Amino acid sequence: MSYNNELKLEFLSLSENEGFARSCVASFCLPLNPSVEVITDIKTAVSEAVTNCVVHAYPNTVGKIEILVKLTQNEIYISVKDFGVGIEDVIKAKEPFYTSKPESERSGMGFTVMESFMDNVTVTSKINVGTEVVLIKKLEEVSEAVGG
Ligand code: ATP
Ligand code: MG
Repeated sequence: MSYNNELKLEFLSLSENEGFARSCVASFCLPLNPSVEVITDIKTAVSEAVTNCVVHAYPNTVGKIEILVKLTQNEIYISVKDFGVGIEDVIKAKEPFYTSKPESERSGMGFTVMESFMDNVTVTSKINVGTEVVLIKKLEEVSEAVGG
């Protein structure tokens, strides 16, 4: 038996949309019967990725954020994409405590949090083109009950 489903969301980089996006992605994953822990991990990671688009991608302006969720029986795939300023050095950006905004009480832990709550995190970015963060959560294979 296999399961396949997809969701695409597009919204503006306003901070009030972060909670909506996080809940929407989490709700969409529910048919897979994920544990409470998996749902919490996904909410936390999506929240960090979307907050980064809101805070960093479009300085002094508002732009679009796109989320694509793909579900299969054993994996949750989430892409969070913006079309903003991009990241010059992705390796440096992913380091714990690195932030380009130390003055505005950012702790520089967003990517570290995403990496610790998800099984795989890939960041692709191009200056003035945008950034895509792909978050992957592996699900435990649920074996079907054998009748008896
Ligand atoms: P925190 O997430 O702890 O509030 P932070 O957002 O600065 O702080 P990270 O989320 O780890 O920390 O991101 C590290 C840095 O990567 C940011 O300071 C910013 O320079 C850059 N960055 C992250 N996401 C984006 C994005 N979508 N567009 C442009 N720059 C980004
Ligand atoms: Mg962040």
